[in-house]
Amino acid sequence: MDPSGLPGPPDTQDLPGLLDLDRRIAGCRACPRLVDWREEVARTKRAAFADCTYWGRPVPGFGPPDARLLIVGLAPAAHGGNRTGRMFTGDRSGDVLYEALYDVGLASQPTSTHAGDGLELYGVRITAPVHCAPPANKPTPGERDTCRPWLVQELHLLRPTLRAALVLGAFGWQAALPAFTEAGWTVPRPRPAFAHGTHVMLPAPDGDGLHLYGCFHVSQRNTFTGRLTPDMLREVLHAAAGAAGLPTRKQR
Ligand code: SF4
Repeated sequence: MDPSGLPGPPDTQDLPGLLDLDRRIAGCRACPRLVDWREEVARTKRAAFADCTYWGRPVPGFGPPDARLLIVGLAPAAHGGNRTGRMFTGDRSGDVLYEALYDVGLASQPTSTHAGDGLELYGVRITAPVHCAPPANKPTPGERDTCRPWLVQELHLLRPTLRAALVLGAFGWQAALPAFTEAGWTVPRPRPAFAHGTHVMLPAPDGDGLHLYGCFHVSQRNTFTGRLTPDMLREVLHAAAGAAGLPTRKQR
């Protein structure tokens, strides 16, 4: 509970199970601007989705609790995750990401259309440093910092099995590095800069280190312009999965 009395990010001493964490994230109302936006979008809808009941709440992470690889995005899309209630589900960015995950052998199907579509991830979990859809896909630094305790909690809970993380885009990179530090991994100083294909090892004084990879975000701006191609995405996913010890399908 945050000081306003509204549900908010947790005290990081409190470590519930992942399902409980997901449930508590879904009830968070700590960022007034984002609460207003996500709920307004859910009321007004996009014409193409006029018949849908939008989720309109924070979107928790998706994937098994013993994941070895964590993919960190930016924030849910207004008519994607904010509509369907699942990360990268129901939008073009998700189409690109899940097709690549399927190609590499980390997902049960190449599409992700709605929460009940049967999609399973194999050893992979997908989350975001900001769990609510922001206007213009741009959370403020204050909103990013307010949401960070949720990511720290998720990292603590995944830590026994987590061996690699793939961060999509510079915003997620900046947001995630402090969370990795708070969760017990050592981030080098000066902090490593984001770049596509960057690979950094984050040691942990009391356990296994974490292989950290950077990848351009799967946004339409990047995929439509060819800045990020399916081959580039599959290549970095393949590397991160290998570092995490996950079996993969041979790349096409
Ligand atoms: S962005 Fe995060 S901290 Fe802010 S309201 Fe959403 S879930 Fe809560």
